[in-house]
Amino acid sequence: MAQTLFMQQSHIVQHHTVADYDRTVALFNANKGEKMWNWGSAHYVIREDGLIDCMVNPEYRAYHSGNGHLVPDSRMNPTAQVTTNDLNSWSIGIENVNDGYSIFPKEQMYANILLMEELVKTFKTINPKILLGHADWDPSRKCDPNPCFDWKLAANASEKFEEIEHNFGVYPSSEYRSDSNELISGQNPDTANYDDIKSVQDILAEIGYNVFNEDKKNEGCYDLQTRNCVKAFKNHYLNTSVVKILEDADIREYEKYSDHHPFMIKVDESSFEIMGEVADLLA
Ligand SMILES: [Zn+2]
Repeated sequence: MAQTLFMQQSHIVQHHTVADYDRTVALFNANKGEKMWNWGSAHYVIREDGLIDCMVNPEYRAYHSGNGHLVPDSRMNPTAQVTTNDLNSWSIGIENVNDGYSIFPKEQMYANILLMEELVKTFKTINPKILLGHADWDPSRKCDPNPCFDWKLAANASEKFEEIEHNFGVYPSSEYRSDSNELISGQNPDTANYDDIKSVQDILAEIGYNVFNEDKKNEGCYDLQTRNCVKAFKNHYLNTSVVKILEDADIREYEKYSDHHPFMIKVDESSFEIMGEVADLLA
């Protein structure tokens, strides 16, 4: 059991619950049998009005991140300590009560930032620059927290709030340009240039996204795995554009339609530049 109990706090992972507050707390308190890995749990649950519940002591491992991967020696996994399918041993999980598509009220975001400030002061091993969403860890299955999460505010927290000393995560200063040239059309990827696809894969892998399969067999190929990483990147670092561009579609269906919405699956020069800026900011 030593391995199960091992915990070194190096990352913070943001989630949304989908379930409401009462249901979330009930789920996390439910005893699902002896096997700890069957339990869902997170260290903290933050309600829409900013109330913070500690469900699992952050000294201990919780079960919030499941399977996933961060490229070793990448920006998000700099010392390669986070191994495949085990972010739980390295991270503190924060669940934000949210139906999966609505905004995160400012009281909730502020409570989240206050909590992160407390955590980085307590655990010096956390690098506040690297703030993960669940989707960054597992782009193939997860899309939380939804793109309304205010990553930009978290990345500028010390300037926005007098009582906050740190910034959490990074956020690009470049504005997305919707009129920039398209490099890869997700709908017709066969027309894309091998080198363009490889460049996008390389920069996403440098950041830490799990873009390549075994032996890089998909190098230069805009396959589902690569597309999912593009989506996860946009969900996090182009989130305000995602919310704006997709608002005409039914945002309640975000999880479903984000798989095939033209904006989510294409790469243009502007989003490619922003990928480069994020890699630099995380260096
Ligand atoms: Zn999650």
